[in-house]
Amino acid sequence: MRKLLLESLFRAPLTEPAPEPAERALAELATRLDRAAHRRLGRSLSIREVDAGSCNGCELEIHALSNAFYDLERFGIRFVASPRHADMLLVTGPVTKNMREALERTYTATPDPKWVVAVGDCTVDGGLFAGSYAVAGGVADVVPVDLHIRGCPPTPTRLLEGLLALLESGAS
Ligand code: SF4
Repeated sequence: MRKLLLESLFRAPLTEPAPEPAERALAELATRLDRAAHRRLGRSLSIREVDAGSCNGCELEIHALSNAFYDLERFGIRFVASPRHADMLLVTGPVTKNMREALERTYTATPDPKWVVAVGDCTVDGGLFAGSYAVAGGVADVVPVDLHIRGCPPTPTRLLEGLLALLESGAS
């Protein structure tokens, strides 16, 4: 035990270092996203995130957009607490039976025009959790979806690319 404690004092951590975000590419992507939001909405984009039953892997990547590395708010893109203040719903996970009504009510509470972006492979058809007694289905089985961003989970950069493609596509 003493040997283990001594080793843990002097041994380097086993965790891998965080990947360096490509700062210039990220800034360009986020700036384009903010410009596209201003063209479409006349202001910055406000996003409400809804975890409809995910394993939280997708949430970790979405939360990373607000951390000190990515810091999306500096480009004017905000996560909001209420669907009434949102332009876009970012939905993760298979939709569980427990969350189905909450997702429907969140969708109804979000003012038009609005976008629904389904994040992660689980949102397509339940993914790893398809067939579970607790799962109602993919997000499109419950509310209309404008874009799926695939991945398990998708990286923060992939999330930004997906949002940008949606806003630049002219979908309403
Ligand atoms: S797509 Fe992958 S990371 Fe995201 S909720 Fe499903 S299993 Fe988890």
